[in-house]
Amino acid sequence: MEIASVIVDVPAKQTDRAFDYLIPDQWRDTIQPGMRVVVPFGPRNIQGFVIELKKESEVKQLREIIEPMDLEPILNHELLELGNWLTENTLCFKIFAYQVMLPAALKAKYEKMVKLAPGVEISALPLSLHSFFAKNGKLDWQDALKNGIVSLLQKETAKGQLEVHYIVKEKVRKKQQKYIRPLVSQAVLTEEMGKLPVNAEKQKQVISFFIERFAPIEMRLLVAELNTTASTVKALVGKRILAEEEVEVYRDPYEHRRFERTKPLPLTKDQQTAIVPILNAVEQNQHEVFLLYGVTGSGKTEIYLQSIQEVIEKGQEAIVLVPEIALTPQMVNRFKGRFGDLVAVLHSGLSAGEKYDEWRKIQRKEVKVAVGARSAIFAPFENLGIIIIDEEHETSYKQEEMPRYHARDVAIERAKTYSCPVVLGSATPSLESFARAQKKVYHLLTLPTRMNNQTLPPVEIIDMREELREGNRSMFSRKLFEMLKDRIEKKQQTVLFLNKRGHSSFVMCRDCGYVMNCPNCDISLTYHRVNEQMKCHYCGYESFVPKACPECSSEHIRYFGTGTQKVEDELGKILPEARVIRMDVDTTGRKGSHERLLKDFQDGKADILLGTQMIAKGLDFPNITLVGVLSADTMLHLPDFRSSEKTFQLLTQVSGRAGRHQLPGEVIIQTYTPEHYSIELAGTQDYDLFYQQEMLNRKMHHYPPFYFLSLITVSHEQLLAVVSATEKIVNYVQSRLSPEAVVLGPAASPIPRINNRYRYQCLIKYKREPNLTTTLKTILDQYQKDTKSGLQVSIDVNPFILM
Ligand code: ADP
Ligand code: ZN
Ligand code: ZN
Repeated sequence: MEIASVIVDVPAKQTDRAFDYLIPDQWRDTIQPGMRVVVPFGPRNIQGFVIELKKESEVKQLREIIEPMDLEPILNHELLELGNWLTENTLCFKIFAYQVMLPAALKAKYEKMVKLAPGVEISALPLSLHSFFAKNGKLDWQDALKNGIVSLLQKETAKGQLEVHYIVKEKVRKKQQKYIRPLVSQAVLTEEMGKLPVNAEKQKQVISFFIERFAPIEMRLLVAELNTTASTVKALVGKRILAEEEVEVYRDPYEHRRFERTKPLPLTKDQQTAIVPILNAVEQNQHEVFLLYGVTGSGKTEIYLQSIQEVIEKGQEAIVLVPEIALTPQMVNRFKGRFGDLVAVLHSGLSAGEKYDEWRKIQRKEVKVAVGARSAIFAPFENLGIIIIDEEHETSYKQEEMPRYHARDVAIERAKTYSCPVVLGSATPSLESFARAQKKVYHLLTLPTRMNNQTLPPVEIIDMREELREGNRSMFSRKLFEMLKDRIEKKQQTVLFLNKRGHSSFVMCRDCGYVMNCPNCDISLTYHRVNEQMKCHYCGYESFVPKACPECSSEHIRYFGTGTQKVEDELGKILPEARVIRMDVDTTGRKGSHERLLKDFQDGKADILLGTQMIAKGLDFPNITLVGVLSADTMLHLPDFRSSEKTFQLLTQVSGRAGRHQLPGEVIIQTYTPEHYSIELAGTQDYDLFYQQEMLNRKMHHYPPFYFLSLITVSHEQLLAVVSATEKIVNYVQSRLSPEAVVLGPAASPIPRINNRYRYQCLIKYKREPNLTTTLKTILDQYQKDTKSGLQVSIDVNPFILM
């Protein structure tokens, strides 16, 4: 085949299709679908994905592929197809669909270079440029910028003396190590040693080493062991007695850790009942979606492990998704402990290089199990036998940027292709999944009790309005304070949980009520004490805290809200003897700090662990006997139809952190709305009742799972332009859909301005609308092509956040 269809790395409407390129003779046998190639595109060279080979093209005058970037396809046939499905279902550009499947290291990086044009001598350039091109006739663009010679270069380029080149680079290289091995037999080595001159002591030493130990060895070790030099070894390589070779090694993030091997546990009766249908589906290669519903500690993970065991024994592969924040060392241990080196782990704590190496283990079929966060759903296995999604209700499984996919949907799509089961596990399933299980679309499996029949810890709900009425203005209720003191005396540990989302600390004037807002966005700035700064989390704007109020000049300007820092301060005042570890974005920014803080807590270096939702998962320490939730309702008031569901899930999750071992635990939930059903029912940990209540709610307000949603967000620098464009879109959508569909808008987005762009939205609620996809595509086509208007339109099918 001489022609390749290529998806190019230019995310725009006009380029969102395949372009044909000629394959030069020398690459005819090399280039295959699923490989990355470098192709000319306009004046530049860019990266692209070959999706198809063909004999003919409608386009005359095809340009040639410059070179392949891979020696073997990095996307197999199934993933190429899945890319089409992603594009169609999330309305994203094709290039994004392929890029999301690959580790970041494989995304292209472009380098711009200025080079002497062919045949041009340095002497033809102005004197001031000579030194820059003296070395090899090339100059890196970054250096040109640094030295302020861009306009000079431009002039010479216009004259044809210089040329600009774009070079496509890999971000990360494979890690190579130099190995030395004998190239001839031991007998020949002995012979060669005899031929060396008497004074070649050093070389003889190396040869005799290999006569004794006839095996490859890393150059570095060889040099160190013999106390010799690389040039001595190289001399022997030159004589073709030894050979030098580059061997790829993996950067293994778990290199220095030993994993204690575990064996399958004899299953309980409930576990047995639950696992049988899964094993049947595995054996019979049947696609089926299971919802494994069981409280934390009911033995779900053991079921995952034993199902995977079966899959491996059948010669197949498994993907396990775990939410990013739950991907703790404890979780990794369970999988590495059972399957050892057959497990690859993919998560954001790894460096780009480590992630790439883990990914390559999968691609080379060296592992059978991939455990990872959302994007691990694209693990390039080719013989999948099961896909497991733990904590399936977690919102982090939905990607909020293009492609806006949900890992659950991708899992089901891939599992259909491979005819294999999907297992969704949760103690608090998403309403969507539980509803599907009720309708028998999913197969419901239940684990009703905790292992060893441990009871769930008792939960007490404290009404903070009552505290205020009785004169307690602190953020700690009297009850919580008493219990904190009690735990410190008993040398037991407490986890204090602050639901920070939507309620971060802000700066307000106590005299006039002025709040510091971001000048570019309609949202208050967040206070960071470390450097006494205010930051906008949406556009990155930063400013110092003013000494006086910009409105009324009062000096009573303070920070407010219940940020973790503030809680820590107050703890310091009321319980000065308490040792506190704080975990939030400020203290866990650096790699490994999350793990270290947890370890300190586990080792008993603190009495209280204070943190945001990141501490809700995976904590399982025997000495925790108290869990306190400081403000249960902060999330309830977000403009989000899932706020009750999220509140319930989170409170249930956190409560499960106490008393998981011998010592009994207690939970305190502080709230201003104790009568709200999601708080009340989290108190009794009654998922089934919560489900019924919330379903009524969703039905009444036309929300999922009764209706599907699609959200169109329009933004522009001018308010009028946004409103009128959104208005047009609303009308158009209405004209294309059935009367059963609900089309809302134009309405300002909950954050009405970000980065100086006004934002309006149109929300569509529908049950079955065969026209919808084409309608949405038409809208995107229209606005993404028209870049002059300055309007940006984005569409989220099944949005999770309505901001
Ligand atoms: P979940 O994933 O639902 O939170 P786990 O699988 O982690 O539950 O099980 C909770 C605890 O019970 C773990 O310590 C696990 O090792 C243990 N466990 C699970 N299954 C069994 C079993 N069949 N026999 C004994 N212990 C078990
Ligand atoms: Zn003021
Ligand atoms: Zn901003």
